[in-house]
Amino acid sequence: MRFDIITVLPGLLDGPFAHSILQRAQQKGLAEIHVHNLRDYADNKHKSVDDYPYGGGSGMVMTIQPFANCIEALNKERQYDEVIFMSPDGERLDQGIANSLVGGQNILILCGHYKGIDQRIRDMYVTREISIGDYVLSGGELAAAVLVDAVVRLIPGVLTDETSALSDSFQDGLLDAPVYTRPADWQGHRVPEVLLSGNQQVIDEWRHEQALERTQQRRPDLLNE
Ligand code: SAH
Repeated sequence: MRFDIITVLPGLLDGPFAHSILQRAQQKGLAEIHVHNLRDYADNKHKSVDDYPYGGGSGMVMTIQPFANCIEALNKERQYDEVIFMSPDGERLDQGIANSLVGGQNILILCGHYKGIDQRIRDMYVTREISIGDYVLSGGELAAAVLVDAVVRLIPGVLTDETSALSDSFQDGLLDAPVYTRPADWQGHRVPEVLLSGNQQVIDEWRHEQALERTQQRRPDLLNE
């Protein structure tokens, strides 16, 4: 899969994709992530990408021209399955949305800043608007990184243990069961005996019960869906 991200602060995205699973996914050729600096597409002398809002009020608004030039240049290169605008008023990101995006070829992501982007960019180019939660960030970059991470780890071959993503929280409508590793006894705090039993069927049942209990306690709303 290929992700193109348009941002006015490309440096904010240097870190998230340069480590661990996301880095390995790119090295293996399973994901390509390209970050584009919006300012490079600004026609004006000062490379400005924002302006005062019509109707007054506080905050600057990102202008159409740089986004239009950048998006149209990218559209000439390839077709995008989705053009996503990261926005607090979009549909709230969940595992289902991440699942629905895997398997696509090309995804274009727009990051807003300041007060947001001119509504006409959304009307003309955007096919999907996604929020990462009911709070306001200062820019769309961290939200884009969250979205790309959630999708890339689902691409077959990215996680070394193929089944690992399937048993994560939310995939089966349940939160994950608690996990333990060595030592079996840490200053008197012992790992649940059942995990040491070697009986896989009993362990699987225990994990399912724990997942169910945890979901009932913490997220009963998931059980009603
Ligand atoms: N005035 C806007 C917020 C602008 S915040 C409003 O009230 O809706 C600046 C930018 O940060 C947004 O354009 C968006 O791209 C990004 N952003 C902020 N919060 C976000 C969230 N919860 N999810 C996704 N993107 C977000």
